[in-house]
Amino acid sequence: MTRTDSIPSTDFIRNIIEEDLKANKNEGRVTTRFPPEPNGYLHIGHAKSICLNFGIAAQYGGSCNLRFDDTDPSGEDVEYVESIKSDVRWLGFDWDDRLFHASDYFDQLYQYAVQLIKDGKAYVCSLSAEEIREYRGTLTKPGKDSPYRNRSVEENLDLFERMRAGEFEEGAHVLRAKIDMASSNINMRDPTFYRIKKVPHYRKGNKWCIYPMYDFTHCLSDSIEGITHSICTLEFENNRPLYDWVLDELNVDCHPQQIEFARLNLSYTVLSKRRLVELVDKGYVTGWDDPRMPTLAGMRRRGYTPEAIRNFCERIGVAKRDSIVDMAMLDHCVREDLDQRAPRVMAVLRPLRVVIDNYPEDQVEELDAPYHPQDPSMGSRKVPFSRVLYIEREDFLEDPPKTFFRLAPGREVRLRYAYYIKCVRVVKDEQTGEVVEVHCTYDPETRGGWASDGRKVKGTLHWVSAAHSLPAEVRLYDRLFQIANPSGEKEGYDFTRYLNPNSLETLTSSRVEPSLAGVAPGNRYQFERLGYFCVDPVDSSDGALVFNRTITLRDSWAKIANKERSRE
Ligand code: ATP
Ligand code: MG
Repeated sequence: MTRTDSIPSTDFIRNIIEEDLKANKNEGRVTTRFPPEPNGYLHIGHAKSICLNFGIAAQYGGSCNLRFDDTDPSGEDVEYVESIKSDVRWLGFDWDDRLFHASDYFDQLYQYAVQLIKDGKAYVCSLSAEEIREYRGTLTKPGKDSPYRNRSVEENLDLFERMRAGEFEEGAHVLRAKIDMASSNINMRDPTFYRIKKVPHYRKGNKWCIYPMYDFTHCLSDSIEGITHSICTLEFENNRPLYDWVLDELNVDCHPQQIEFARLNLSYTVLSKRRLVELVDKGYVTGWDDPRMPTLAGMRRRGYTPEAIRNFCERIGVAKRDSIVDMAMLDHCVREDLDQRAPRVMAVLRPLRVVIDNYPEDQVEELDAPYHPQDPSMGSRKVPFSRVLYIEREDFLEDPPKTFFRLAPGREVRLRYAYYIKCVRVVKDEQTGEVVEVHCTYDPETRGGWASDGRKVKGTLHWVSAAHSLPAEVRLYDRLFQIANPSGEKEGYDFTRYLNPNSLETLTSSRVEPSLAGVAPGNRYQFERLGYFCVDPVDSSDGALVFNRTITLRDSWAKIANKERSRE
């Protein structure tokens, strides 16, 4: 499969922008923004939006702002601000000096609201939240006017000013746009623009007790920053008339174009911040950076590379219709990237002791082992071989079926980079009957793994020398959910029921080859025959190595893709 990392594919949004450029709209300028709310960590869905917004800006010589959409103080926090900044940088994008906060526009937004009131386009409504809902009507039933709809401009200005001054309790009043309670678009039925919320803001402290709503804030923030193309996800399609209404009524100089695309949905996980917060708060995972989480922090800790994620975002493309992307495709992108960059080393996850009876007791040989089979520039290291080794427990069977080509009594296999060995007897635990040690002989004529008499073996095993290898903890991760689509929306639906109870298996007696002494946190390796692993950046230390399994070697996506291709 070819890599598409550097060739931006085209899509309907890029087509729109190219048309705009041809028509010299916005004087040929392209300015986008990525507008996260700092109420959680970024996930892989956000990565799609980041790649799109920053990618488009780069492609058309424009710029992309990072804007914190921080107008709802409950749940927003600097911890999230910092994590978002570091995740965007890690993904490989840079906002230079274009870091903005919607909360910095509070004064300006307030002035805009006052202007709407003066123009008779907004009013203070004193219905309760419950009543507002009732008055709104439904998809099939028009809404009805609020009894407060025709308050005078003076009364509205007075009440709005007093809302700001903190004279009223939460819920007593809201500021609403005066549009059309009979509109077929429910968003246009006098939407709320400001509500009272006596919650301090993480940046503004207690300065405000009224906060602007998304529909009022977003379009104006875009306009203030001179955004040309405001790219958002499909659920905002029905908000677009409102986006345009606000900007038209206020007659602002810059009126960006909102364009919607389908959000990323990924199988076997959830991509809603509300749900991710729940996983963290209720302790289903160890934190936002738990390697099982679909967050960028989790994926980074698990060993995914930014290149793999960018490549994935490129491949899934940008469309106008919702769909669920197969997790196997993300896995495939991760594998494809790590295959090229990860040095090969040997580790034994579940060790079984092997004694080479005819190997001298105090002899040690340093065998040459290349770091990458296709990339000699990665060099090689020495791997010590001695009389007592460990192999993978599952690579030995006492009573194997015919198709088992690994080690068994009387059978000969190759030890990678080393020798042919043949099993001559086993030692069992007297109580349990479990095989605890395997005795073998080796053929000194097969050094390097090849027999001079041309005799063939079917199996090649990885191994480590018992005395030289280092102990390590290895964390094996699997899908977080057992079902492909855990994101149901029905009332009373509990998505946590579908969590995979086996999403983490911790192995505490694994052994790794001695070249891994002192490895840097975050380093990635292929453990031969097992998968890709990364040094856990949080828990690993020189004295106590911890590895996360990023992904196994089995590529189910390549199989799916091949099948589809052969069907075509
Ligand atoms: P969530 O639905 O997970 O709570 P959100 O949309 O509320 O996410 P924001 O912080 O508002 O989160 O998102 C910032 C930007 O990222 C928005 O422009 C949003 O459209 C985009 N975004 C969020 N989730 C996805 C997704 N799954 N796919 C693509 N873009 C997304
Ligand atoms: Mg949002």
